Formats: sequence, structure tokens, C-alpha cells
Amino acid sequence: MLTVKKFGGTSVADKERIYNVARRCEKAYRRGESLIVVLSAMGKQTDVLIDMAKEINPNPPKRELDMLLTTGEQTSVALLAMAFDAMGIPSISLNAYQVAMHTTRVHGNARLKRIDTDRISHELEAKRIVIVTGFQGVNKYDDYTTLGRGGSDTTAVALAAAMHADVCEIYTDVDGVYTADPRIVKKARKMKEISYDEMLDLATLGAGVLHNRSVELAKKYSVPLVVRSSLNDSEGTVIKEATKVEGMLVSGVAAEKNATRISVIGLEDKPGVAFRLFDLIARAQINVDMILQSIGRDGSKDISFTVPEDVADEAIKILEDNKASLGADKIDFNKNVAKVSIVGTGMMSAPGVAARMFECLYNSRININMISTSEIRVTVLINEKDTERAMIAIHDEFGLED
Ligand code: ASP
Ligand code: MG
Repeated sequence: MLTVKKFGGTSVADKERIYNVARRCEKAYRRGESLIVVLSAMGKQTDVLIDMAKEINPNPPKRELDMLLTTGEQTSVALLAMAFDAMGIPSISLNAYQVAMHTTRVHGNARLKRIDTDRISHELEAKRIVIVTGFQGVNKYDDYTTLGRGGSDTTAVALAAAMHADVCEIYTDVDGVYTADPRIVKKARKMKEISYDEMLDLATLGAGVLHNRSVELAKKYSVPLVVRSSLNDSEGTVIKEATKVEGMLVSGVAAEKNATRISVIGLEDKPGVAFRLFDLIARAQINVDMILQSIGRDGSKDISFTVPEDVADEAIKILEDNKASLGADKIDFNKNVAKVSIVGTGMMSAPGVAARMFECLYNSRININMISTSEIRVTVLINEKDTERAMIAIHDEFGLED
């Protein structure tokens, strides 16, 4: 049996925690499991490194930032290997270069393309626990890249897929995936299982538990994924292909405050305008989320969309610089917005779910700025200050509590 176990930053934050991880792995190792362990950087180390970089240069070259950030994971894997050594358990730590985790070129948000399995297989055959740095890769220039914040989950799932592991376990500081963030919604409940599609939406829409690309990969390669606590033995949440015949209408509520609404006002109402606008944004590698285009009136129209807040200034600048060529009158934006979403495969066959959500927001006197939907999701853009109230009200409305 081969398992990939991934431990997040809080799970390796200090000496005690590192030994806790080592003991947990020891149990599995003694049971005869082959183990690949993927680690994040210790505690908030990645943030610390980013701050260090910005103190030297507010706009650090992305290649050098990656060079710096990858040291966070190299530290934690080496320390865990030292802990195993002290316990008399054979292990070896490997970074992305040593494994050879090949990624795309782009720094800060690279995607894994291919993983060489030889070195890992060889080490596993020698009965060693293989500890791999999360979050990093190497591009075709042999430079380090990183996979985007929270990317260690994706490293773990990609390794599980490449090595045909039996399961990929994501250990974290919560017990599993909840119907909503339990710090905000006190009545939130831990789910026993959830489908890949639902989890993908929840992860993308702000449920902080998993990196969304890890879920995408898990679905693509049918990797059984489990989210569980590194601090206790409770069962956690299993993420897999949908099986429930009669599930809940709505499985979970998520909120994302890292959003900015940008509106381009007074665009010409003719073909090609939306293409030119979003092409400019895409060329800067900025992900656009909700999009709303007004009906053309007197030959002019407005287009609004949301982007992650950390790239909002960049997006706004691009649009300001191209205002004339786009033929826009004005660029308007609001950073104090949040996306609140409900997700559930159950709504696929049940009409009226969106209406119930809107009514519930109306009853709470919360105004909706934008709406977007898919077969299994409804997202609204609201004022950021209303986020918590909205989540609690919606969670109640759909009876997601215990
Ligand atoms: N250490 C990285 C971060 O803080 C990657 C991860 O933890 O998954 O984003
Ligand atoms: Mg994480």
C-alpha cells in the first residue's frame, strides 16, 4: 500500500509538531505502508520570506522570489528527515529538482507538467520514507518555480497520481471539510464525503481547506483524497466521485473576500469589444471570475468583472492604459466586495435554489451586486462587510447544521 501524506504549515510549525508528524508516519510505516510525505513550509514561513523579500525590494524579480520561497519547504523536509533519523527510521528528503517535478515556465504560479518517478521509486524500494518539498517545481531552464499559495496540496495529489498511490491524505489543522467556515458559522458541520466537483467549487470559491488545482488533478486522475486532522484520529472528509443518490440540495457555503469588482463603462456596443478587453487581461495572466455585460443602450455598454484583489491594481492599470483603444469612458472599481457561494450537486435537479438564496439575502437586507451560476453553484457579489451575516443566514436557510 502506497500513501501520500501531506502536512500543512501549522502541522510542522515547531519541533513538537514535527515529531508529531514523524510519529504519525512511523505508525503507518510500521504497518508496512510505503510513504511519500509532502510538506509545506513551517508555520507562516512563506509569509515571513515574502516580507523579507519586500523589505529588500518592494517589487522583487519573480525568479528570485521563487528561489527564496522554495527554501521554506526545503527547511521543513530536511528537519523531518532529521527527526526520522533520530527515531531510527530510514528516510530521505528530496526537493523539486532532485525528484524532478517539471513545471511550466511562469514564476509564482507555475503548473506541474510531469514528474519523474525513478528517484522516488528507487528510494521507496530501499524502504525509505520519501519526504518531498511541496509547492515547488523546476522549469525548463532548470530554475525553481512555485505553484501558487497553498500549492503543496497540488504537489501531493500530483505525486499520488504519478506514483499510482492508493490514497492521498491531506493533514491539516481542521478535522475535514465543513459545510461552512466553522470560525464564522458556528453551526457548521463536518462532511463525511463530498464529490470532486463540489469540492472544486468550494475550494475555488474560498473554502480555504484545499488548493483548487489539487482537486482538479484528483478528479482528473481519480485520486482518492482525504482531508483530516494532523492532531487527532477522527475520520476526516473523503473527496471522491459523486455517489450519493439523494444528497442535500446544497452541500456547503463559501466566501471569498479577496475579490475586486472592476467596471469598464461606456464601451462601444459592437462585436470584438469583450474579446479585446479580456484578451488584455489574460495576457497579464490575470484570472477573471464573474463577468457581467449590460445590455447595449444608445450604442454603448458596460462590462463588469471580478479579479483577485492582489492583482486588481495591475488589472486596473492595464485598462487605464488602454482606455482610449478600448473606447471606454471610465474605469470604476470596488475592492470592498466579497463573493458568497452555495455549492451542491443536489441543485442540478431542483429548481428554485437560487431564488431561495436571494430571498434569504433580501430578508437580511443584503444587496446583491452581481450574480453568476453554474449547474451546481450560485455565487453572489455583495459588500464585504455583509459576508459573515450572509453566510450564517444562508447556512440556516438550507438547513446545513447538524
Ligand atoms: N508554503 C506555501 C504557502 O504558504 C505552500 C503551501 O503551504 O501549500 O502558500
Ligand atoms: Mg493549505
